[in-house]
Amino acid sequence: MAIAANLGFPRIGARRELKTALEAHWAGRISAEDLAAEGALLRARHWALQKEAGLDVIPSNDFSFYDQVLDATALLGAVPERFGPLQGAVTPAQYFAMARGTKTAPAMEMTKWFDTNYHYIVPEFTDGQAFRLGSLKPVEEFLEAKAQGILTRPVLLGPVTWLSLGKAKTAGVDPLALLPAILPIYADILRRLRQAGAEWVQIDEPVLVTDLSQGQARALRSAYADLAEAGPKVMLASYFGALDDNLDLALSLPTAGLHLDLVRAPGQIAQVLAAESGQLSDKVLSLGLVDGRNVWRADLAQALTVAQQAAQAFGTERIQIAPSCSLLHVPVDLAAETGLEEDLRGWLAFATQKLAEVAVLSRALAGADVAADLAASDAAAAARRASPRIHDPRVKARSAAVTAADLARPAPYAQRARAQQAVLALPAFPTTTIGSFPQTAEVRRARADHRKGLLSDADYTGFLQRETEACIRQQEDLGLDMLVHGEFERTDMVEYFGEKLSGYAFTQAGWVQSYGSRCVKPPLIYGDVSRPQPMTVDWARFAQALTDRPVKGMLTGPVTLLQWSFVRDDQPRSETCRQIALAIRDEVADLEAAGLRAIQIDEPALREGLPLRRADWTGYLHWAVDAFRLSAACVRDATQIHTHMCYSEFSDIMPSIAAMDADVLSIETSRSDMDLLQDFGSFAYPNEIGPGLWDIHSPRVPSHAQMVTLLRKASSVIPAERLWVNPDCGLKTRAWPETLAALRNLVAAAAALRAGD
Ligand code: GLN
Ligand code: ZN
Repeated sequence: MAIAANLGFPRIGARRELKTALEAHWAGRISAEDLAAEGALLRARHWALQKEAGLDVIPSNDFSFYDQVLDATALLGAVPERFGPLQGAVTPAQYFAMARGTKTAPAMEMTKWFDTNYHYIVPEFTDGQAFRLGSLKPVEEFLEAKAQGILTRPVLLGPVTWLSLGKAKTAGVDPLALLPAILPIYADILRRLRQAGAEWVQIDEPVLVTDLSQGQARALRSAYADLAEAGPKVMLASYFGALDDNLDLALSLPTAGLHLDLVRAPGQIAQVLAAESGQLSDKVLSLGLVDGRNVWRADLAQALTVAQQAAQAFGTERIQIAPSCSLLHVPVDLAAETGLEEDLRGWLAFATQKLAEVAVLSRALAGADVAADLAASDAAAAARRASPRIHDPRVKARSAAVTAADLARPAPYAQRARAQQAVLALPAFPTTTIGSFPQTAEVRRARADHRKGLLSDADYTGFLQRETEACIRQQEDLGLDMLVHGEFERTDMVEYFGEKLSGYAFTQAGWVQSYGSRCVKPPLIYGDVSRPQPMTVDWARFAQALTDRPVKGMLTGPVTLLQWSFVRDDQPRSETCRQIALAIRDEVADLEAAGLRAIQIDEPALREGLPLRRADWTGYLHWAVDAFRLSAACVRDATQIHTHMCYSEFSDIMPSIAAMDADVLSIETSRSDMDLLQDFGSFAYPNEIGPGLWDIHSPRVPSHAQMVTLLRKASSVIPAERLWVNPDCGLKTRAWPETLAALRNLVAAAAALRAGD
């Protein structure tokens, strides 16, 4: 019999119940006990749902009140000193303080989980780092499910991945050297799980699909030599890519099972089949055949072929069918989507539907008659392939006709800079902002009222016009040199454009956890993308007509529009990105024709799109940079192209950033005190650059003196004539008082540098 297994279920709840409960608890409206009860309710519902779907292996400890990496940190008792001593178990208050900070203790850092949009809390390691069992959550949740009649497979984050994701806070601490100190705690929890009755555990080691250092490989060997015997049988889970050169290592570890992501890396099944002789012994293989990272319905016939091939080679009893990774990254249930067009809806599968797909595949492998399911899957796939909603021959032809000439501005930067200066006549150290201004409660209320039909189109537009005009006046009063319209009409920098582009669809409740209680509702790119009408030109023209100072047109770039959406899986991402780039290019051309002298194309997601393996970087960077260039290169020399990026590690992709050839680049640097600019200096970044002077993620207003110091530091690295003065990101989450105070200091700092003091 083949086994239907799941690796993890979304924890937030179909109606974001966990978000509601967490935020009520943080606001002091519900107690820790009430929050715990809501968590238990969600777990029980999700276990029951998986059982009903026909899953044989149901995970536990995949639930989390904030983040599974933070849960592992709590398990290991690795509570940084500033959150108080560890007495017994980590308390809920300590746990949330680590995630969110307190008045006196800043939160632990947060960063993206591999190449997903999920953020985890970064473990911290210091000199003399001690560990001890700080939580029994895996055992408690196992017993909780058991009491409900479900024998689960608890999920633990693996020790080597946990260490690899952490950060040494004291110089000289090598995270991997801490392995011997944490293994006893892992062994302890595994023993307790076995005592509680667990037959299997799932241990996640997604580092297995990355370029492993020798140290990591060694750590994996020694960890699993210890852990494989300590407790229940171990299903070692790799996901988000191919094991590739780590395959032999993964196969050689003495675990009872190995999970493979066959959606991201279908080719590795052939490698495993080839390695079968000897190596695999009696390992159970978990085949990740249903896409845990995207929302498309599986092609069941194709998946079944792979499963049958594996079953033939290894025997059905050694096969499990599973999603490619935890279903954390997809929305809970398609049933909530009543607003989608019927055909499009038929092409989709969310977490609940994916479980059904896994169950069908395992039943098929066991010899059950699944002809009806296969036929439905075939019909959906055929309908999708042939749908006129997906295919726009004009878009395809235009994309195919793109040439190298379309990607390049006609003149080099130095010549363009002269033409731009003639038009813009900016002072030295020109000041600007990144685009958005505070989205006050009033702005959000007007938008909600408009959406509900309580505010007419005309009244809403009138309201936005008044906000925009007030914003322009504020910027003039502050003395900023290059203005923005403020982005009051936008909810979100991707949603706003997605709603106006064809080929995009939006869900009503397709929420995915981004971090903690924060969820996002990524748009869905299902077809060829084009721009039926101008998207931003009216607002840009309106704003520019209010002032003599130059206003920047404000767009989201193609890579970011791609990266923050669910992307169609029937053509390469690079092709979809090029189509989006052409749509943005149309908007750029229209903005220029409308009289805008500067246009900013934001690409905050460019760096996070980097593949997990270095060998794949060049290919990605090539098409991503080309997409940006294609979106921008249609303008005259005198039109100034800006871009903005907000992730702070650029050192290893400097040539690509330079190749984007934006006239002006604004970046986040304030959190690293400008140290990051060194990379731009040593690379001799050729164009203009605006290092962020103010960390807008914090309500703290930096002083004039601090800004002058930062600017001096910047001008020691970048020639003064190429330096801009700006905050490090958009201001939409800030309030007006701190915004005005900080911008006043920023303008004064630029003046001080101009005056040479
Ligand atoms: N222009 C956008 C804004 O100011 C950029 C946001 C971002 O970088 N994430 O809000
Ligand atoms: Zn930003």
